[in-house]
Amino acid sequence: MKALDELTFDNRFARLGDAFSTSVLPEPIDNPRLVVASDAAMALLDLEPTEAHSPVFAELFGGHKLWAEAEPRAMVYSGHQFGGYSPRLGDGRGLLLGEVYNQAGEHWDLHLKGAGLTPYSRMGDGRAVLRSSIREFLASEALHALGIPSSRALCVIGSDTAVWRETQERAAMLLRLAPSHVRFGHFEYFYYTKQPEQAKVLGEHVLAMHFPECLEQPEPYLAMFRTVVERNAELIAKWQAYGFCHGVMNTDNMSILGITFDFGPYAFLDDFDAHFICNHSDHEGRYSYSNQVPIAHWNLSALAQALTPFISVEALRETLDLFLPLYEAHYLDLMRRRLGFTRADDGDKAMIEALLRLMQNSGVDYHLFFRRLGDQPAAQAVAVLRDDFVDREGFDRWAAGYVARVEGEAANEHRTARMHAVNPLYVLRNYLAQNAIDAAQKGDYEEVRRLHTMLSRPFDEQAGMEAYAQRPPEWGKHLEISCSS
Ligand code: AMP
Ligand code: MG
Repeated sequence: MKALDELTFDNRFARLGDAFSTSVLPEPIDNPRLVVASDAAMALLDLEPTEAHSPVFAELFGGHKLWAEAEPRAMVYSGHQFGGYSPRLGDGRGLLLGEVYNQAGEHWDLHLKGAGLTPYSRMGDGRAVLRSSIREFLASEALHALGIPSSRALCVIGSDTAVWRETQERAAMLLRLAPSHVRFGHFEYFYYTKQPEQAKVLGEHVLAMHFPECLEQPEPYLAMFRTVVERNAELIAKWQAYGFCHGVMNTDNMSILGITFDFGPYAFLDDFDAHFICNHSDHEGRYSYSNQVPIAHWNLSALAQALTPFISVEALRETLDLFLPLYEAHYLDLMRRRLGFTRADDGDKAMIEALLRLMQNSGVDYHLFFRRLGDQPAAQAVAVLRDDFVDREGFDRWAAGYVARVEGEAANEHRTARMHAVNPLYVLRNYLAQNAIDAAQKGDYEEVRRLHTMLSRPFDEQAGMEAYAQRPPEWGKHLEISCSS
């Protein structure tokens, strides 16, 4: 375990030069203080958990101090936002402080979000508010605990610095960790600005750092694109299976690594609703829950376009065609496990679709349904759950098929343990995050910390946390999450 001043830097992206990023120093926030830190994320840097409470921690991640080896850079990228191309985005309020490697030899980008103005700030103030920093912190660590690939969050640092959104708020900084901050939009930027040399430098860098196994293939770029397609198919399957809505699936928010990235007004479903839109600025529902699948495919095709200098169009098309079947295979596999099945059956897809149709507009809590389904033997469980459905006869027909399917399986001994291991009891519901944010805005960080600790073990029943495992109150189901951040 290390102390803060013992981190070892190796800033490989910074060394690519000024065509890829600009050197910018963080602008400190006033009176920085620790809101919350993640022990698990600290461990990725071999950091002693107690280091979070040293004064220098809040100074470092509040922009007051910097390691001598850090080389803060704002990255340039572009991207398709809500389907339209924005030719120049870039880090408008976040800085890549540097790349740190741990004892296991893994490299982690340290990205400080809310670090002040950069050449890419456009009309923005370079800041992030406490509210959105807490939301990103909680979601990154909660998704990871659910087994959903995500960027990680080391800490949130609060401050007295005033910033204006719909009203006056306080600035905060979030330290994000990811093996890479390269987005689909990085490749788009060099493609659309017609810089083939730089596009190649970026491509070789990403291949060497993050897809070394692809370098052994006859066509490394194609192998890399295929891996990106495969990882996204798996990622989106997990989002769909667990009811996670990202909310802003612009190509500048899509990681080349296939991890959940750049959190905005995201939400987990409460009641199941295939048409749920979590982003209140998304008037057409482009990024609704069920659209996440075709949108991921669309985003991959935007990346494919940017890779046409390296890969033939036919090969790109063939590879893109893998997305939907791969997605479906992963999704069905996860849903089977959530339903407690140990083997695949031809009727599974129809059974899952029928269940979701019954849930639609029924007010059935998406998460508790699966958890309760595993609490008792199948026949008893469905007898209780039927009361939640509007179409009870319809549910009874579904349940008869389900119980028969469960009873037809050989191994049912450890059904509850098996199902509880994939069906969380605790979920980062919007209203829980909101309660924690309300307290934090008054200076009380206990609720944020409690939620974070609870969500780091979402599958394990935890003493004293019963209130968090209930259906949300009515007011909590329809919170308007501002997309300002
Ligand atoms: P996001 O919606 O957070 O993914 O951001 C989209 C783009 O807007 C990125 O280039 C961000 O860096 C930039 N941006 C968002 N908020 C701000 C802000 N408050 N100040 C400067 N740039 C921002
Ligand atoms: Mg973004």
